[in-house]
Amino acid sequence: MTSNATEFARAQRSIPGGVNSPVRAFRSVGGTPRFMVSAKGPYITDSEGREYVDLVCSWGPAVLGHAHPEVVRAVQDAAARGLSFGATTPAETDLAELVRARVIAGGVAPIEKLRLVSTGTEATMTAIRLARGFTGRDVLIKFAGHYHGHSDPLLAEAGSGLATLALPASAGVPAATAALTIVLPYNDLDAVRAAFAEFGQQVAAIIVEAAPANMGVVPPAPGFNAALADIAHENGALLIVDEVLTGFRVGAAGWWGLENSAGPDGAVAHPYTPDLVTFGKVVGGGMPLAALGGRADVMDHLAPLGPVYQAGTLSGNPIAVAAGLTTLRLADAAVYETLDAVSTTISDAVSAAFSEAGVAHSLQRAGSLFSFTFGSDVAPRDYADVQRQEGFRYAPFFHSMLDAGVSLPPSVYEAWFVSAAHDDRAIGRILDALPAAARAAAAA
Ligand code: PMP
Repeated sequence: MTSNATEFARAQRSIPGGVNSPVRAFRSVGGTPRFMVSAKGPYITDSEGREYVDLVCSWGPAVLGHAHPEVVRAVQDAAARGLSFGATTPAETDLAELVRARVIAGGVAPIEKLRLVSTGTEATMTAIRLARGFTGRDVLIKFAGHYHGHSDPLLAEAGSGLATLALPASAGVPAATAALTIVLPYNDLDAVRAAFAEFGQQVAAIIVEAAPANMGVVPPAPGFNAALADIAHENGALLIVDEVLTGFRVGAAGWWGLENSAGPDGAVAHPYTPDLVTFGKVVGGGMPLAALGGRADVMDHLAPLGPVYQAGTLSGNPIAVAAGLTTLRLADAAVYETLDAVSTTISDAVSAAFSEAGVAHSLQRAGSLFSFTFGSDVAPRDYADVQRQEGFRYAPFFHSMLDAGVSLPPSVYEAWFVSAAHDDRAIGRILDALPAAARAAAAA
């Protein structure tokens, strides 16, 4: 065993900032990042041997909890058969078929074809290249505070990681590339209509997080996504719905599935069909795997059938596919019921603790995803609202929880993630830690 401080000092000598993804550096909450060595169910253990209840869940993939025995077995079996072939495998088709069959709602099946890649960044990067290649247009519309990975065109006002570091966008993105991305305020259809009125014939696609969770959770206004589909389609543009984070986490068919399922009256209130959908995180069950899918006529523009190039040495990696297939097969209706129940219990308890301690806050939910903003009980509707909050209250809250053995996302701009393995014992530990942490937030 080594201390986290020793590990952090060692890491910083060989790795920029000591981390391989910026949010892990604890820059916005301060202190020493925990160096993790193992995880099981709802718990994660650091290099000092301390166990935490984990509410990060690898930023989404661990819907079943960490190291589910059947997923681990599938990975071990796949590894024993070979780590990577660089050739096509039957299991990749199994996964594509499973995704196609699951993402159905209201009688609509938007995923006609699917391509596997290795990261969410690749999925969205490829989706926009494909939209540009298909439409023959260059301009892209995205929303402020939405994160779609770190490819050049998508790194404009991109939420969480950049917000945490207070960067508007990344250095190194050519101005000419950024100039092709129009960034609009979220949940504002007038802004979308105005952008199309001015640039309509140049717009290849609108890309939108299905339910944004990278500026904290800010759910779409009812009908917003459906209106985006209408506006895009009226103008010959595509709608790319990014479900990297929400897909197979908020429900069996993702956020699109929730929005396109019949309500109590038997009707779908605001039906829409995306042209392309991106998946990541859960679809790979904790291994590096992501995907993009959608209309067959659009997807068939990808090489080798079409002129839009995309490739990957490790795309469809057999171990990642085994993890994803097994995770999706295990993530049945009961799992989603548990995720909903667990997230309601935890988020309500956190909200109650804040209220008890006199911390003005808003609890935002999108399915089983949730987060809090501080300083007001008015729910934010866009990135500007989120940025106005009393974000300084989060760090003392975070550290009080961490000291009590609960690992939260190390930034107020991130969603909280639960798993189906968060049982009464794990939830009890969270509830026990809350009053003192909420008082720390109040005292900030
Ligand atoms: N899109 C969304 C909505 C995401 O939340 C993320 C990652 N958090 C990405 C894309 C990028 O995925 P990755 O980190 O696997 O590149």
